[in-house]
Amino acid sequence: MTNKRILSGMRSTNPRLHIGNYEGALRNWVDLQAQGFDMFCMVADLHALTTMYENSREVSDNAREIAKDYIAAGIDPSKSVVFIQSHVREHSELHLLFSMMTPLGWLERVPTYKEKKDDMGAAEREPYGLLGYPVLQTVDILLYKPYGVPVGRDQAPHLEIGNDIAIRFNRLYGKEVFQPYKYMIPEDENRAKLPGLDMRKMSKSYDNCIYLSDSEDETAEKIKKAFTTPTKLKKTDPGIPEGCAVCQYLKLYSPNWEEQWQEDRDGIRGCMQSKKECTEVVNEYLRPMRERRKAVDDATIEDILEDGARRATEVAAATMAEVREAMGLR
Ligand code: ATP
Ligand code: MG
Repeated sequence: MTNKRILSGMRSTNPRLHIGNYEGALRNWVDLQAQGFDMFCMVADLHALTTMYENSREVSDNAREIAKDYIAAGIDPSKSVVFIQSHVREHSELHLLFSMMTPLGWLERVPTYKEKKDDMGAAEREPYGLLGYPVLQTVDILLYKPYGVPVGRDQAPHLEIGNDIAIRFNRLYGKEVFQPYKYMIPEDENRAKLPGLDMRKMSKSYDNCIYLSDSEDETAEKIKKAFTTPTKLKKTDPGIPEGCAVCQYLKLYSPNWEEQWQEDRDGIRGCMQSKKECTEVVNEYLRPMRERRKAVDDATIEDILEDGARRATEVAAATMAEVREAMGLR
């Protein structure tokens, strides 16, 4: 394999990343970094504006905090490129060109568009940019011509459009500027789409997350209130672990989850005990990341992001030159 470049990112809709972001994507980034891949770890502030355009300053502040979470999770800025999307102007330029050649029907069919559109309410509030979300994501990816893109399952429809746009571009302008990339989605279904404390998908924009940087007490409080089997009112009532958020986290983090699940089903363990044990394993798992995060200050992260923008721009600008050449834009 000659190309060992990897691109992935997170929206800065919130200052903190959650364990779903970690399990779905960030954990793979750290593994790929260890395997010697050239990682491009982006904070997608422009993507956050599709739903938070009224709070642009907050989106920008959040971006710095998210970059700190990358470092806390084990991304090493001397090996990997950590940057903010809007610092690399080529993203905006290629987005405009791709938006000219992407059929509207491809975008209207995307399930996440339909969901986000409904979340935003009145049609007058829904911005033009929201529909173009997968186009911008395609730009993010193709500018770096990566071997693969490690993301959670919810991103699969966007990744498909991205490869379709790459093929369409090459065909329209008669040059193989872009090559297909691989989707790197965790095989473990729980990791690919981690449920939130309320059993919907864990999402920064829902209030249903355990954040990487939550304190141990905050984690305990959240798990105490998490969704369990609604019909299990007392210890002896049988539980249904498949539908219980606490049992889902036990499955991921507890070495003896099979026994714990069986006891839940058999009514020989209560939800309180599961919550207590779940809190212990989750806090244990997150402890090293929380320690590392405390060591990253504001000045350090600005330096990392400045260096990252410079390294990302080098690659993005080279791709942009090829695009202009293929399209004959002089
Ligand atoms: P938002 O609500 O703003 O969309 P989000 O929590 O969905 O936030 P994103 O920034 O959209 O996070 O996604 C960042 C990465 O985390 C993507 O690769 C996405 O697939 C992954 N991801 C997000 N939520 C989960 C989840 N619950 N389980 C697994 N992966 C997830
Ligand atoms: Mg999302």
